[in-house]
Amino acid sequence: MDYADIDPSTWVVSSGRPPATADNPVNEPIVPASTFHAGGPTEYAREGNPSATALEVALGGLECGNAIVFASGMAAANALMDLWPVGARVLAPNTAYTGVAVRLRELDSRGHIHLTTCEVIDSDFILSQLTKSDILWLESPTNPLLEVADLELLISHAAAHGVTSIVDSTFASPVRQNPLKLGADFVLHSVTKILSGHSDLLMGAVVTKSEDDWAKLQTRRVLLGAMPSAFDCYLALRGLRTLFVRYEKSEANAIELTSQLETHPAVSRLRYPGWGTIAAIEVVGNADLVCESTALWTYATSLGGVESLLERRRRWPLESETVPENLIRLSFGIENPADLWLDLDQALRNSNQR
Ligand SMILES: *Cc1c(COP(=O)(O)O)cnc(C)c1O
Repeated sequence: MDYADIDPSTWVVSSGRPPATADNPVNEPIVPASTFHAGGPTEYAREGNPSATALEVALGGLECGNAIVFASGMAAANALMDLWPVGARVLAPNTAYTGVAVRLRELDSRGHIHLTTCEVIDSDFILSQLTKSDILWLESPTNPLLEVADLELLISHAAAHGVTSIVDSTFASPVRQNPLKLGADFVLHSVTKILSGHSDLLMGAVVTKSEDDWAKLQTRRVLLGAMPSAFDCYLALRGLRTLFVRYEKSEANAIELTSQLETHPAVSRLRYPGWGTIAAIEVVGNADLVCESTALWTYATSLGGVESLLERRRRWPLESETVPENLIRLSFGIENPADLWLDLDQALRNSNQR
């Protein structure tokens, strides 16, 4: 069965399984070995493992490309950056995932790349810079400002100018967008987040349009030592099976609660694109106190798990100064929305009074 023949929500369940022959297991077994008998394609576990291959089959089909998994989202991002020649001209968001933004500035200050920053919503500026760029790095929606880029416009113009486009699609997931279908060269995911969905592992992935680029990234993965463990790949694929039901439930919770947050007296600004499982609020009272005053919502970083999480982003010293001090990022889980609302509402009111 090819992913083009069936719905992605079916593909994610049926793909990446051992052949359907008598007594074969229905799930790819975890192989705990660092080395393999010589003569085959794997030889050594830094090159791959069967659980990673099964996960890559499933994820690649969801993005209509060739997936390769890494030990974290940052390991995947660094492998992409390691493909660039010295002096590459990179156009990237000024506010994006902190680790990526910091890493790009680091490469620029060390003279490895020439970095120009942009706002992902400023299409005119981005288009005006394409003739001076080799790489267009996009993130949409952005973390944590929830800005949405006009991917179709930007990717098609990048392609027309011969600019390599990379889209960090962690927030949207393949449930809501497929950048490769719009012509992007690479899609980046933090598998740590909603793809695996249970806050129990770290992993990243790149999905490439070309098989040639996949092979280059496979070499990067081996040389950088960024292979995820067989057990984590097993867990990630187990989580990925339920991606669509989790995404749809978390998104329904996000839509319901953000409609109430919009008019909440303790909320001065709501950022929510109208879809997706993440939102951000700016609060009138003490933002740290809000995070400390919830019982069901967990005060912790990260996002995309079955449990609802919240966090004041500027508590991280490296977070961009364009992120307001009183901004709280909300990651909606799959709990009952009325329970989530009662808990969040009392925390907001509590912090507003003191
Ligand atoms: C978390 C995240 C990353 C980094 O992924 P890790 O798995 O934490 O290394 C990259 N991009 C976005 C948008 C993220 O949310």
